[in-house]
Amino acid sequence: MTALFADVPGQHRAVAALTAAAHRPVHAYLFAGPAGTGKAAAARSFAAMLLCPNGGDGTCETCRRVLAGSHPDVVTVEREGAFITVEAARDVARLAARSPVEGQRKVLILPDFHLVREAGPALLKTIEEPPASAVFIVMAEYVPPELITIASRCVRVDFAPLAPATVTAALVAEGVSPDLAEELAVAAGGRLDRARMLAADPEFEARRRAWLSVPGRLDGRGHSAAVLADELVGLLDRSVAPLKARQDQEMAELEARNARALEVNGKVGRGGRGGLKAGVREMEDRHKREVRRQRTDELRTGLAILAGVYRDRLASASTPGAQRAAAEAVGLIAGLGAALANNPGELLALQALLARLGRQAVTA
Ligand SMILES: [Zn+2]
Repeated sequence: MTALFADVPGQHRAVAALTAAAHRPVHAYLFAGPAGTGKAAAARSFAAMLLCPNGGDGTCETCRRVLAGSHPDVVTVEREGAFITVEAARDVARLAARSPVEGQRKVLILPDFHLVREAGPALLKTIEEPPASAVFIVMAEYVPPELITIASRCVRVDFAPLAPATVTAALVAEGVSPDLAEELAVAAGGRLDRARMLAADPEFEARRRAWLSVPGRLDGRGHSAAVLADELVGLLDRSVAPLKARQDQEMAELEARNARALEVNGKVGRGGRGGLKAGVREMEDRHKREVRRQRTDELRTGLAILAGVYRDRLASASTPGAQRAAAEAVGLIAGLGAALANNPGELLALQALLARLGRQAVTA
């Protein structure tokens, strides 16, 4: 393994396949796997291999620019709304049709294509009749029916969920203490990106303790459950702060890049949206999605910690009644976790869960 793919731990099979493929690439790849498994980092390294004049050393000027996201022949097409629009698919076609700026090849990275919906046919046409110079990297967390035909035109590379031990090892290599790394790996549910963010978040430990304290604070009264739910949702709100800080920095970098490009070329951007504002709206939309996702992820993490308390109780329960109560609590928490995707009313849902857990604590 070269310096490339160093930031893609635990995906040896995918990395080996890509390293082999880079010498004689086909024109479309599908990176399939859950969020936080390294698809985006692998796409950058693979793109560097495809453009590097030295076959992928990872250190030359081309490689460095690709990895930094500043090479003009590696373009990431971010979606603007909740789904990939037909307009975005047309953008892809337009971008693919342009000649490479520097070399013989250009790479188009297409994230979130499990959300392709009605844009599928437009994208399919581009991928079926690709310009000779274009290589597509389609990324998807799963393959919905709308993506099946596109997937069949791509070489598929699977990214498996990371084992907690892999996430732990990656964090330890980055300087996180082993004990904390292990906790973070579990809390992040096998997502390295999320574990990294929690590692950099000084408030995480306080949030963890708050969730751990929930069972001991439930007394069967609805009022206590409501107060506690309020407190936990307040923690969710504050958990967005580190993400917001990173987003502000990202936006500042984009604005600086636009200003530089404007100075050099007199224009920037794609699809006719040029000038200082190029890509700003897309980034704002993505940032909003990231904030929503962070809240959901954070709630899931909290529920995982809470379920852990009841699992420990289940393991040490000395009476059938206590056993039944703990098992039921684990089930209730899992039920809310599963419903989260369709349930924006997190406060009400959490209140209801805590009220039930509290009543159960009194009767058990
Ligand atoms: Zn290179």
